[in-house]
Amino acid sequence: MALRGDVVSQQTPGDMNIRRAALTLGKRARAELKGQKPLILWMTGLSGSGKSTIADRVEDKLWRCGYHTMLLDGDNLRFGLNRDLTFTDSDRIENVRRTAEVARLMLDAGLIVICSLISPFRRERMLARQLVGEDEFVELFVDTPLDECIRRDPKGLYARALAGEIPNFTGLTSSYEPPDAPEIHLRTDRHDVDTLAEQVLGELQRRGAIARSR
Ligand code: ADP
Repeated sequence: MALRGDVVSQQTPGDMNIRRAALTLGKRARAELKGQKPLILWMTGLSGSGKSTIADRVEDKLWRCGYHTMLLDGDNLRFGLNRDLTFTDSDRIENVRRTAEVARLMLDAGLIVICSLISPFRRERMLARQLVGEDEFVELFVDTPLDECIRRDPKGLYARALAGEIPNFTGLTSSYEPPDAPEIHLRTDRHDVDTLAEQVLGELQRRGAIARSR
C-alpha cells in the first residue's frame, strides 16, 4: 500500500525559510484506496447559466456510481473561505486562486472535485489548470446566452444589476471570457439538465476518467 508521496508543485512560499514536509502518502495512494482517478471538473459560465444545477446533478450521478466526490460551489465558498472577497477584478482573481488551491488539496485527497464558479478570466482558469497534471483538469463551459441568463434570472440578480444596484456584474458591467477550447461544451439552451449531466459522465467515461459500473 505504501505508495510514496507524489511529486508536488515547486512553487515557492512567501517566506523562503519554509521547507515542504515530506509525506509518506500521496495522491495516488489515497486515490487507489478509493478505487478512482482523482480529477478536477472546472465549470465556468455566466451567472445563471446553470453551473450549480448541472454540477449538483453530475455529483449525484457520480455518487450513485460509487465515486468519492466534492462539490466546490463559488457562491457557497463566499459564505466562508472567500467571505472577505468582493467582485472587483482583483478579488475575482483571488477567488479563483483560492478555489483552485482548495481543489488541488482535494485532488491530493483522491477525490473527484467539481468546481462551479463563474471564473470569468481565461488567465486564472489557465493558472488553475497548471496547478495540477494535464489529465487531471477538465474544463466545462456551461454555455448559455446572456439573454437567456437574464430571462432565467434564478436569483433575481440580473434585474438588480440592470437597475444599477449591483456593480461589477459579469456579462453586464464586468467581462466574461469564454473558454477557447473547453474539454466539455454544455449547451443549456439545447438540452435539459439531465441530458447535460449524462453528457458529462459520457465524456468522462470516453476519456477513461471513470467507468460507469464499478
Ligand atoms: P449558476 O450556478 O450558473 O449561477 P444556477 O445553476 O444557479 O446557475 O441557475 C441556473 C438556472 O437555470 C436554474 O434555475 C436552472 O433550473 C435553470 N435551467 C433551465 N434550463 C437549464 C439547463 N438546461 N441547464 C441548467 N440549468 C437550467
